[in-house]
Amino acid sequence: MPGILLEGKPIAEKIKEALKTEIESLKAKHGRGPKLVAIQIGENASSAVYIKNQKKAAELLGIEYELKTLPESASQSDVEALVGKLNDDRAVTAVILQLPVPKGIDAKKLVNEIAPDKDAEGMHPANLGHILLGKFRIGPCTAMAVMELLESAKVNLYGKEAVVVGHSEIVGKPLSLMLLNKFATTTVCHIATGERGVLPEHVKQAEILVVAVGKAGLIKGDWVKEGAMVIDVGINRVGDKIVGDVEFEGASKRASHITPVPGGVGPLTTTILMRNTVELFKKQH
Ligand code: NAP
Repeated sequence: MPGILLEGKPIAEKIKEALKTEIESLKAKHGRGPKLVAIQIGENASSAVYIKNQKKAAELLGIEYELKTLPESASQSDVEALVGKLNDDRAVTAVILQLPVPKGIDAKKLVNEIAPDKDAEGMHPANLGHILLGKFRIGPCTAMAVMELLESAKVNLYGKEAVVVGHSEIVGKPLSLMLLNKFATTTVCHIATGERGVLPEHVKQAEILVVAVGKAGLIKGDWVKEGAMVIDVGINRVGDKIVGDVEFEGASKRASHITPVPGGVGPLTTTILMRNTVELFKKQH
């Protein structure tokens, strides 16, 4: 029997509904609401799409959204000066740096300079550190979105074999800590796992499988354990189609639940960004 589709949109709608009410009451209590400022350096087609989505989501929820654009020629110190200004501005309650940034700009250094209590993406080391310590309300949006999907399916992670494929700072690493915090027996696979030829072996053990690599069809359908829950974070363009990292057809026949690509993790990430923004506002007040 094919697995149940785990779609992100209905979960995102539920979170947005709750956020809308919360923002209204925060505004009534504090006389002002959250303000998210996005920094974009140069022009980029994919960040233009993200910005459009962010603006739409923010406006719908009653979050003030402002885009600050800097020219492609901006230097590291120009951007750092802007970040410093936003950190000092009390009216600005959250900041996001749009990626990718032009060559010559050190994005990691910039993210570290955003004040941790204005870090909308949850990527500042101080916020990542709270995940390690197991107590956090702000975190990297995609990893948090995966946890929301698992929660929506009411999976008890306690003692489950969880396998995360991909160990990026934005998805795989923070997610593996989040799973560990829930007492899942967590294995993290990465490039060396693949090179050693033992990726299938690990994947076959997974009761919870999360794949965040960016390689279409990396995970073969018949590697998926019967009854596993599969969250495919990957986004890959193949011809005129967008596909994930998992061979959907084969995997969906074996999985108990599986995310579609597109339509799984993707629709949730902007909503989590908005939730982070609200959590930061609450921290500041
Ligand atoms: P990334 O920074 O490129 O990380 C990819 C990870 O996969 C790295 O840890 C890499 O290891 C590992 N890897 C590469 N080849 C592998 C292999 N053959 N076997 C096992 N692991 C391998 O990418 P990311 O930012 O985490 O994003 C991953 C995917 O998720 C991309 O397709 C991206 O578009 C998508 N994504 C989706 C959303 C969403 O909202 N749905 C959000 C963010 C990202 P090494 O670093 O050691 O090479």
